[in-house]
Amino acid sequence: MASIAVIGLGNMGGPMAANLARAGLVVHGFDLVAELREAAAGNGVVVAACATAAAGAADIVLTMLPAGRDVLGVWGEAIPAAKPDALFIDCSTIDVESARQAHAMASTAAIRSLDAPVSGGTAGAKAATLTFMCGGEASAFDAAKPILEKMGRKIVHCGGPGAGQAAKICNNMILGATMIVTAEAFVLAERLGLSHQALFDVAANSSGQSWSLTVNCPVPGLVPTSAANRDYKPGFAASLMLKDLKLAQDAASACGASTPLGSAAAQLYGLYNAWGEGGADFSGIIHLIRGTAEGRETWRGSAPKT
Ligand code: NAD
Repeated sequence: MASIAVIGLGNMGGPMAANLARAGLVVHGFDLVAELREAAAGNGVVVAACATAAAGAADIVLTMLPAGRDVLGVWGEAIPAAKPDALFIDCSTIDVESARQAHAMASTAAIRSLDAPVSGGTAGAKAATLTFMCGGEASAFDAAKPILEKMGRKIVHCGGPGAGQAAKICNNMILGATMIVTAEAFVLAERLGLSHQALFDVAANSSGQSWSLTVNCPVPGLVPTSAANRDYKPGFAASLMLKDLKLAQDAASACGASTPLGSAAAQLYGLYNAWGEGGADFSGIIHLIRGTAEGRETWRGSAPKT
């Protein structure tokens, strides 16, 4: 059975490593945080002294880290220590440019690599139902697929190096913009005297339909899976939505793409985060649109927290 190193044992990497150990793989894990290393050990992970030691002991090296600079830092140290036929997979959500740099670093050392960001959140990580969006050579994808299948349900090869990250930020730009406009539609309906149920019954069965409406509806009581039913406990946190929208804006600027709605979505989630709501589910943006967030008058008039 192949051995795998998982570097970054946080909200996502922790349960992903646990699922790999449960599937019978030898999992070498490392995180900078001692409590997370201890928790991983309790889930069958062999804790390494550092990221490089974990990487050197494994056939496959998987990183699940906050940002591009973290991935480039860990890959930069781990690649020289890796086995010659190792496969590197980065599942973090990072900027396309850093993802391509990481691939180039691996390629220079004749190491196969894949960018494979995920959707499905912490619930998907725990239940092994993630979707993986992969970028890299077909041979790297073919080698990674059986491993990714132990943590996810849908594994998509999107194209060459960086294509997985590109798919992730394009998807989440759609998600952020549709959530905002869905929230706007419910607020407009309220002002027009149209019930939430009536709007839902029409839009969910016609051309206004989207995941933001039928799976994570921003008003409570219409869809059992909505974070709105749990007082907007995430789910997918507004801070992570802002991160992804900023990555999309950075990528759009770098390649000269016009994304006016993506830009507006990034600004609105920036304002919502500045209100101190980054820990809420991203569907909570309806409070900002409605202007009735507790202690605030209207989002147009209120000053964001600094
Ligand atoms: P997290 O902050 O819980 O975990 C990241 C972990 O990486 C931390 O525990 C941190 O200590 C560790 N780390 C940082 N630098 C390190 C280093 N040099 N060596 C070892 N460990 C290091 O974040 P998360 O929620 O698990 O997210 C991880 C990635 O997955 C992010 O890129 C995020 O955008 C993406 N993502 C998260 C979700 C979600 O719902 N949480 C969903 C999809 C994608």
